Amino acid sequence: MLEKRSVDLHVEEKEGKPVKEPFSKQYRCGPLLGSGGFGSVFSGHRLSDGLQVAIKQISRDSVQQWARLPGELSPVPMEIALLHRLSEVGGNGGVIQMLDWFEVEGRGFLLVMERPPQCQDLFDFITERGALPERLALRFFRQMVETLQFVHLHGVVHRDIKDENIVVDTRSLEVKIIDFGSGALLKDAAYDEFEGTRVYSPPEWVQARTYHAIPLTVWSLGVLLFDMVCGDIPFERDQEIIGATPFFTHRVSKECQALIRWCLSFRPEDRPSLEEILSHPWMEGGEEEEEEECSSVPSSSL
Ligand code: ADP
Ligand code: MG
Repeated sequence: MLEKRSVDLHVEEKEGKPVKEPFSKQYRCGPLLGSGGFGSVFSGHRLSDGLQVAIKQISRDSVQQWARLPGELSPVPMEIALLHRLSEVGGNGGVIQMLDWFEVEGRGFLLVMERPPQCQDLFDFITERGALPERLALRFFRQMVETLQFVHLHGVVHRDIKDENIVVDTRSLEVKIIDFGSGALLKDAAYDEFEGTRVYSPPEWVQARTYHAIPLTVWSLGVLLFDMVCGDIPFERDQEIIGATPFFTHRVSKECQALIRWCLSFRPEDRPSLEEILSHPWMEGGEEEEEEECSSVPSSSL
């Protein structure tokens, strides 16, 4: 049975306490969109207005970290708490918006999110097209870095930045970060636990099981940028991660290679900050030729 939970849709007052319509009265679940490490995600729609949504089932057993939300008696998965925090501060177009959430008594949680009408995750996008033209990669990368600045500013670290956790609106070419299931509250001190993806994790985690939030994020951005411009990730094995030397399998400009190498510096303190990434010479290109670049994406997918 679905328990009623606080969120702002269809709320009525009952004995002074807000009561919400159950999930099944508000949403209809459709086919499976994807499943990763922590849950299954279905497409669906909101019954009141037909809005397209994505519905993530989170089983109680898979939840590693719990958090408390104001006004809630029982703890909720950290993923819900982090998305709640980011939406409370007004949201940001680059973070997927959480519309609603429900506890399914005894079993787990349902997280209802926006679903861009024509979207594909970046893993599928790259698998279909192969290596992306640099200007398209730049367009996606800039949005990602700016969105991560917003996320960090509001005290959250994602910790699982990778192509599968980014959805691309294939019409507007806007990207949105999804899956805060490995995320945490941002802190200055070192972390000693990690639930993200090994092949996107930095040498200090692989060697010493410790890391700081910003250098971890920047390393994963280096892996992501390489993945976009070469069509695959640079490292598979731990020894390759520790070697920290990407081998370019495609023709990639010198500036882009330099930025990737900087993000993939072996020593965390040698990596750039997000601000330094944004002012790197490679990031300055692209604006005036964006239209041309859009037309180089196969039209079947736009
Ligand atoms: P997991 O925690 O299991 O990795 P994710 O939240 O990453 O689950 O979702 C799994 C997949 O479902 C994603 O890689 C993506 O393809 C799809 N997906 C998830 N959320 C959305 C969304 N809001 N809109 C569109 N597709 C989504
Ligand atoms: Mg995922």
